[in-house]
Amino acid sequence: MTSEQKSLFIIFGGTGDLAQRKLYPSLFNLYKQGYLKENFAVIGTARRPWTNERYQQIVRNSISGMEITARQANEFSSHFYYQSHNVNDTQHYETLRQLADELDKKYAINGNRVFYLAMSPQFFSTICEHVKTQGLVTDNGYNRVVIEKPFGRDVKSAVELNDSINQYFPEDDVYRIDHYLGKEMIQSIPALRFSNNIFNALWNYRYIDNIQITLSEALGVEERAGYYENAGALRDMVQNHILQTVALLTMNAPTMYTDADIRKEKISALKALRVYDQAGVKQNFVFGQYGAGNGQAAYREENQVAPDSKTETFVAGKIFVDNMSMAGVPIYVRTGKRLTTKNTQIDVVFKNAPYNIFGEDQLKRNILTFKVDPNPGMELRLNGKKVDFDQYSIQSMHLKHEHGEEIQSKMPVGYEKLLYDVLQGDTASFSHWDEVYYSWRFVDAIRQGWQKQAEGQIDLYPAGSMGPKGADDLLAADGNQWHFRPDQG
Ligand code: NAD
Repeated sequence: MTSEQKSLFIIFGGTGDLAQRKLYPSLFNLYKQGYLKENFAVIGTARRPWTNERYQQIVRNSISGMEITARQANEFSSHFYYQSHNVNDTQHYETLRQLADELDKKYAINGNRVFYLAMSPQFFSTICEHVKTQGLVTDNGYNRVVIEKPFGRDVKSAVELNDSINQYFPEDDVYRIDHYLGKEMIQSIPALRFSNNIFNALWNYRYIDNIQITLSEALGVEERAGYYENAGALRDMVQNHILQTVALLTMNAPTMYTDADIRKEKISALKALRVYDQAGVKQNFVFGQYGAGNGQAAYREENQVAPDSKTETFVAGKIFVDNMSMAGVPIYVRTGKRLTTKNTQIDVVFKNAPYNIFGEDQLKRNILTFKVDPNPGMELRLNGKKVDFDQYSIQSMHLKHEHGEEIQSKMPVGYEKLLYDVLQGDTASFSHWDEVYYSWRFVDAIRQGWQKQAEGQIDLYPAGSMGPKGADDLLAADGNQWHFRPDQG
């Protein structure tokens, strides 16, 4: 049964790209489904001197492509209020507090507040400090702070940021967003692993040969070059999305499916990441940058990119989680921009049967594939009997499940599910500080190891390919190959 939630959202960065493209449509979906009804309001803040009317029009514009009547759009947007606000100005928080208290009464919200920090990370700690010290935190309801990525750029900055936030908000009230954790098929990993004994029994080093994670993008850096030049693929994709996925694939079974139990196991998995020294980085990681190709410009020719930039737009690596069940299982990961196609998938490759009674070369590996994006679903590759009269032979068969159109249309988009979880106080799909810490510890060692080798050697790859050859060699050295090979037709 749909239960109505009471909450006041205060969105810092309410005129920004994230708010308009993701947050307002997601809030509207929650409204349409009845999770938000009468008892909610949204205050959007940013520096521009907008009126409520102008802000409400922006909100209506951001949901205009959705299934919506004019009446719904008006009713929904009437809950949105704009407050011009400079996050560095203490006085402005007083005005914000007055408006928040007024709306709390008007909509009978009972003191529940979500502070959504949809702004540049440099402002995260200032906002937390002022929100707390200027009395925006209530005594009678919950006070949850949602923090966008990136959470720091290395261990040191992440620790500093976390310490400063924890002065004002306890860990349990901090919701660090990783929007991959809101994706349906990422959320399906524990369900498939722990509710099927066939997988539960086989999910260990004895039966899994390797795991492959691909997050490929067809687009280039687009208008994010200013940020990306200082981040690169390792920070932008590996530290968060890929390592969170690794944690879900390698963690031990939680005692119960509760946020506390899941977080405990994810933390253990990330703590068990094998941290490489310089030689380990050289052997196990490959960095690339897109050159020109397919009629598209090279990264170094993009706006706001240095002509001699060494920023990696591609990274591939072999990761190990040194725990009892997964020790020794290589986890190959790769992510990059301007690759052949946009796709996110996970392939769990099982070992062959111990003895092949059907003769040489007939058996293919069993592979369980989580298709995350696009067309969410799963696939299991098995060996079966070929229909043949005069000889008994084996052929590869694929069991496929795709969530059909109807289910897909009901599937919550990433942010919608995460916002719903924030309202419920369910932290399972948000990164705990310890997870963030262990992820940065792993990533810092890779970055340092890489920078020491030949001043951060980077392989150029043609736009439209699947990255530098080194990414294939990484697997070939172990006698493996990428299962997902869209560049090979
Ligand atoms: P943006 O630049 O589009 O928006 C920033 C907002 O902050 C604007 O509303 C701006 O007016 C406001 N602002 C800036 N300085 C201010 C100040 N001193 N006082 C008050 N308001 C101020 O940025 P964005 O793309 O919406 O990203 C916001 C956050 O979300 C960033 O942390 C980003 O890394 C993260 N993020 C964004 C996306 C996305 O799709 N846009 C995806 C993942 C993460």
